[in-house]
Amino acid sequence: MAISRENESPRHEVIIIGAGVCGIYQLYRLLELGIDVTVLEAGGGPGGTWYWNRYPGCRFDSESYTYGYSFSKELLEEWDWSEHFAGQPETLRYLNHVVEKFDLRRHMQFNCKVDSAVFDDDASYWTLQLADGRTLTTRFLLTAIGMLSAPTMPLIEGVASFEGEAYHTYYWPQEPVDTAASSRPRRPRTSGPSMSRKPTGIPSCPRPSPGSPATIPTSPATTSCAT
Ligand SMILES: Cc1cc2nc3c(=O)[nH]c(=O)nc-3n(C[C@H](O)[C@H](O)[C@H](O)COP(=O)(O)OP(=O)(O)OC[C@H]3O[C@@H](n4cnc5c(N)ncnc54)[C@H](O)[C@@H]3O)c2cc1C
Repeated sequence: MAISRENESPRHEVIIIGAGVCGIYQLYRLLELGIDVTVLEAGGGPGGTWYWNRYPGCRFDSESYTYGYSFSKELLEEWDWSEHFAGQPETLRYLNHVVEKFDLRRHMQFNCKVDSAVFDDDASYWTLQLADGRTLTTRFLLTAIGMLSAPTMPLIEGVASFEGEAYHTYYWPQEPVDTAASSRPRRPRTSGPSMSRKPTGIPSCPRPSPGSPATIPTSPATTSCAT
């Protein structure tokens, strides 16, 4: 006989997956309504697209002002984009500024990858399995996971046996990359999902199998996971 879970309460009222532009906005709005809400983010900090993609030359191709949140006149007035089409560092700075200004970080858990989310019809809540082994329950689930947050790893013959460094644009490291040195072949310096450059100096691809964001060694602002 199926066990009824009707009287059980989920631990969270709302969980948002993703701390990109959309997740940040959703969080702000729900807090404004006085709702208990938590953001789970696979990356080591907020910013989504602009947290992960930090390869040289990464920048907006639409005008930066289109990214300015309009929910706060003060925020709109205080932020001046230094360029019409800002580079990734400035966009990431802006999103971090929003997070700090509205004290949103304490509602976010970083390095928290959600592996699955299942809705329980009887109990009317979601059960989430996290990559770190935890199980969370929530009444409402908002997925702000982006349309471009699952990088595609090119299948290039021989890439798995390539011994130099290789970097994928999405998983670009936070520390500076010496592109001149990287243009010479050498042994890989990372383990896990392969990051490297071809001896030609052309940005190259990692192994054919996609790596899990949670295993990529990038994290500027790490907040440890909590329930
Ligand atoms: C290189 C590049 C340039 C771009 N340039 C522009 C531009 O000029 N103008 C424009 O309007 N748009 C641009 N975009 C599109 C950009 O993605 C969107 O503008 C916007 O940033 C998307 O925000 P988002 O919050 O919807 O998703 P994202 O920023 O993708 O954030 C989603 C977040 O969800 C997290 N996530 C996903 N799955 C899980 C999971 N299972 N568990 C935990 N966390 C998870 C990811 O780690 C990520 O941080 C660009 C995209 C890229 C990649």
